[in-house]
Amino acid sequence: MAEVRPRVEFKEKLSPFLRRKIAELTDQYDALSPVVRKLTRQYLADPAERHIDEALERRRHYDAEMPTVYEGKPLHGLERLYRRVILIEPTTVCAAHCRYCLRAHYEPLHLREDELLLLARYCGDEAHCREVREVLITGGDPLMIPTRLNFLIDALAEHAPNIRHIRVGSRVPLQAPERVEEDILHALRKRPALQIEIGTHVNHAVELFPEVNAAFHKLQDAGCRIYNQSVLMRGVNDSIEDLVELFDALRALWIEPHYLFHCVPMQGMAHFRTTLEEGLELTRALVMSGAVSGRAKPMYTAMTDIGKITLYQGTIVKRKGRHVLLQSNYAVEERIQWNPQWAQPDSVEIDPHGRMRVWYLDGENGAAR
Ligand code: SF4
Repeated sequence: MAEVRPRVEFKEKLSPFLRRKIAELTDQYDALSPVVRKLTRQYLADPAERHIDEALERRRHYDAEMPTVYEGKPLHGLERLYRRVILIEPTTVCAAHCRYCLRAHYEPLHLREDELLLLARYCGDEAHCREVREVLITGGDPLMIPTRLNFLIDALAEHAPNIRHIRVGSRVPLQAPERVEEDILHALRKRPALQIEIGTHVNHAVELFPEVNAAFHKLQDAGCRIYNQSVLMRGVNDSIEDLVELFDALRALWIEPHYLFHCVPMQGMAHFRTTLEEGLELTRALVMSGAVSGRAKPMYTAMTDIGKITLYQGTIVKRKGRHVLLQSNYAVEERIQWNPQWAQPDSVEIDPHGRMRVWYLDGENGAAR
């Protein structure tokens, strides 16, 4: 039985926009009606978050931090897990706190311009970043700091010509759409030879209020491509009807489907987590039944200790108790080559071809709602 103790502080935080929308929906329906709960479950703290299994659940979804010294100075807010992509976190501030956030336990961080400049120079360094083509700017929410974001993108354009794609992760259009104004659009403006994309998280069609749609359109009109990563969550979107409505609505907004994530085994998340098999059944029903257009199909993916693993046939190698062994195509040698500080997690086994397999905690059948 899981120990019950207070979850490490991740304060409930709602933007004024979300507060207003929740109040309007509650006036229209009942606070406990499914339509209201599909929004409030994403943002209101739940007593179920205090059910923590220290032995099984994690405070971080993976360890990819790079405690790197460059030009004699430490680099902050830098992660690397994949060959071609570097991840930069300029801030940990967000307009609202999503209860399922993977970075709920991160130390607060707010990078200065000189620190961002150093990161940009590092990204352009031939010796360290030969294969890097892409930077993911995440957080926190980079659209909360448009001036710094503009500075960082300009610095990457000037000092890292190897970077062709910049992705910016943001839920500001959903949480505070009124912020999508001139300063954000200026930061995301087109620059020569640089493709800028926005990666967002829409989890349910109920979040797509007219103001939200208008904010997405402004970003698209400024030249940004937008793609979506949803998290599969009990009581939010764990039915085929919810998923069809969501992916149809995204297609109508010209937002590309990317991942449908299995909810990560983070501390206090058990009440959100379906089993992998439930997610597979839902994905099968979604993508192999003509329920949605082929252009609207997401990839069902687990975020493991060694990175993302998309669930194709043969991905689940075996089961032991509540854990499943997932097959990846990642090799240890390559991982260390890109990130020399990376340490192989205990959950990893190496297959006969030198590829990593990773043990992953499954969700529980019918976990508390
Ligand atoms: S907007 Fe993103 S980083 Fe911020 S709380 Fe939500 S999931 Fe976490």
